[in-house]
Amino acid sequence: MRPDQHTILVVEDETSIATFIAAYLRNAGYAVRTAASVRDAVNELAAAQPALVVLDLNLPDGDGVELCRRIRKTSDVPILMLTARDDDVDKIIGLEVGADDYMTKPFNPRELVARVKSVLRRAVPDRRVRASEELRHGDLVINAGKREVHVGDEEIRLAPKEFDLLWELLDHRGIVLTRDQLLERVWGYTFAGDTRTVDVHVRQIRRKLGDASPIVTVWGVGYKVASERAPAPTS
Ligand code: CA
Repeated sequence: MRPDQHTILVVEDETSIATFIAAYLRNAGYAVRTAASVRDAVNELAAAQPALVVLDLNLPDGDGVELCRRIRKTSDVPILMLTARDDDVDKIIGLEVGADDYMTKPFNPRELVARVKSVLRRAVPDRRVRASEELRHGDLVINAGKREVHVGDEEIRLAPKEFDLLWELLDHRGIVLTRDQLLERVWGYTFAGDTRTVDVHVRQIRRKLGDASPIVTVWGVGYKVASERAPAPTS
């Protein structure tokens, strides 16, 4: 498991739905654990320490509302509830059980992934709040306020998305970001499947920056910027 990878616990007794949700979440870069009952869910919650729980309302040995309340007594883990009917959503919201978001079956799995991302983004401190306005890597200097990129004394013109993509990677240096993560962070609310866009932009950045490009391809996963290249020898 990668250090930046979140674990999602999917609590759903219908195997076909659980499998299908798990596949989409894994494809989006999450680690997934599943539980088919309240009992399994309680065990998995303790064992896996998930970053988020997808929780079906109707379980064979209890109901999701009760489980949600039980989780809330000891944990702030974000909970995305699944229900079979729209009416249930109104009921759950009325009961204020403490879920963070709700989806009604049948749902588009891509929308579920987007909701999971959105809930997680709200749950963790906003990484887009920029600690600094300027990031450096070797001879490369990028300035967020002026939206300028320099390699040494030379200014390099990047397209807006190229700039944002480079910033995102530099801002997470040392961490591999998947194509889906980059799509989501740079292009916004985007579904899986467009990941070639990321490759095309990385290619452009590399072409423009030449040897100063800090982007490393991590085969089968995505891209990263190495922690820091060795400082140039000073004379
Ligand atoms: Ca169920």
